[in-house]
Amino acid sequence: MEENSNFIRSIIKEDLESGKRDTVITRFPPEPNGYLHIGHAKSIVINFGIADEFNGQTNLRFDDTNPLKEDREYVDSIKNDVAWLGYEWENLRFASDYFEEMYDRAVLLIKKGKAYVDDLSPDEIREYRGTLTEPGKDSPYRSRTVEENLDLFDRMRKGEFENGKKVLRAKIDMASGNINMRDPVIYRVSHATHHNTGDTWCIYPMYAFAHPLEDAIEGVTHSLCTTEFEEQRPLYNWVVEECEMESKPQQIEFGRLNIENTVMSKRKLKQLVDEGYVDGWDDPRMPTISGLRRKGYTPESIREFVQATGVSKGSGAVDEAMLEHFVREDLKLKAPRTMGILNPLKVVITNYPEGQVEMLDAEINPENPEMGTRQIPFSREIYVEQDDFMENPPKKYFRLFPGNEVRLKHAYFIKCEDVIKDENGNVIELHCTYDVETKSGSGFTGRKVKGTLHWVEASQAIPAEFRLYEPLIRDEDLKAADESEDKTFIDFVNEDSLTIQEGFIEPTMKDAKPQDKFQFFRHGYFNVDPKHTTEDKIVFNRIVSLKSSFKL
Ligand code: ATP
Ligand code: MG
Ligand code: MG
Repeated sequence: MEENSNFIRSIIKEDLESGKRDTVITRFPPEPNGYLHIGHAKSIVINFGIADEFNGQTNLRFDDTNPLKEDREYVDSIKNDVAWLGYEWENLRFASDYFEEMYDRAVLLIKKGKAYVDDLSPDEIREYRGTLTEPGKDSPYRSRTVEENLDLFDRMRKGEFENGKKVLRAKIDMASGNINMRDPVIYRVSHATHHNTGDTWCIYPMYAFAHPLEDAIEGVTHSLCTTEFEEQRPLYNWVVEECEMESKPQQIEFGRLNIENTVMSKRKLKQLVDEGYVDGWDDPRMPTISGLRRKGYTPESIREFVQATGVSKGSGAVDEAMLEHFVREDLKLKAPRTMGILNPLKVVITNYPEGQVEMLDAEINPENPEMGTRQIPFSREIYVEQDDFMENPPKKYFRLFPGNEVRLKHAYFIKCEDVIKDENGNVIELHCTYDVETKSGSGFTGRKVKGTLHWVEASQAIPAEFRLYEPLIRDEDLKAADESEDKTFIDFVNEDSLTIQEGFIEPTMKDAKPQDKFQFFRHGYFNVDPKHTTEDKIVFNRIVSLKSSFKL
């Protein structure tokens, strides 16, 4: 994070220097109702990064106060993703571990005359709450006695009331200019089995009540959250104060991270999964941490990206090209170079001796010579890319066409002599000749060619599947949409977001394992897909193409 653009760091520094705090404790508090996305990565990097910087601690705390939406699967995936990003939590906590204490604090509020049981329906509560320009109205149950409230709250806990029949509300100020302070609901009845506490509870605390208590119980000093909670800060402080919490955490808000051409809310991402638009939360088109990982993103690239987006109060959408920039940067020196044919066209080199296979030297990474060299076979039959041949090329086409000569990377010059077609006129094979003098590395300077093509020797080529991705949702389409049509983001899912191609890779890659990353010459960076790769078939996800117009 930029030293001077991070206002959170400045606040913390001041708190330590002034003696207001003597330690820094933060937390990352996901609700286990979905998989983490790149927006969460920002919260993770900020919370863990800041605490690290000041020798503090960070807890991973599951904010699991809503039993209906939460699941063990999400808990496990979140732990895995945080660890994969490279962070170690000090303590692993569940908000549900504190249910008993939260209940006691609610009882304390009742005893102080600061909370009451309300029988209004959710709709009535909303109506009574008023609007920005209109003060709220008191509920007729607002004046219940402490004894009555204690009795009713106890019976709520015992399960005497159905869902929605009663709530506990904080008694604050129905005329407050901040609507959040107009007697917010702090407990509701919900007869639901909780992933952690089972059927122990049938009342659950609301987020706005639970979160400040969780922070205070853990001794969190700086509770970092996104700006949509700014309006809740007075309530946060009220809860900490009135519940007489010893520790007084301070809430600080920062702007959310959004990325163009995708959606980024667990609810929407879940809909894409549930309705089968993607093959799971970890589909490489998803902006989830697990999707990015499966696509081939590295933890380093995600951390670098998030840091480059900075920490501020604002939250515009970031160009996805910026994310791509960071993975290219990270893989540049790490990923071995190789050749793969995504859309094969057979080439027979008619003057190359039949049955002969020679091995050619090829550097593994010209930008990182320490990675050494590999040996690739060459023979009379090879594959090139269908796109690298045109029978009637336009001007400035320097690849294969009848009579033209090109360079084969790491090998020889070949010249296109004949075009073989099937009965429908489709090109199925090229006949070329090679010039033995032009061998790569031989120092040949006799003549020059303009095109350099990648290729794979046919007899030892390994079949492979390549998956190419486009954005799942296009912002332009969304923006251009006629609002009167009442469409949702689902109507703008890009049907061409996945293209599958069957081709070949070099035999040097026979031991490639899931999550191994390569740079395919002229095609970009690819990752071995962990889900679809089998003993018999290797599947690659394109992480990113080679070129970008993005400038940092
Ligand atoms: P979503 O709407 O995607 O479900 P959320 O805010 O409900 O997100 P939580 O599980 O509550 O998800 O998030 C855990 C933490 O991550 C919170 O502190 C939240 O503020 C932060 N966070 C979530 N989305 C973003 C984002 N896009 N940018 C930065 N921080 C985020
Ligand atoms: Mg949330
Ligand atoms: Mg949410």
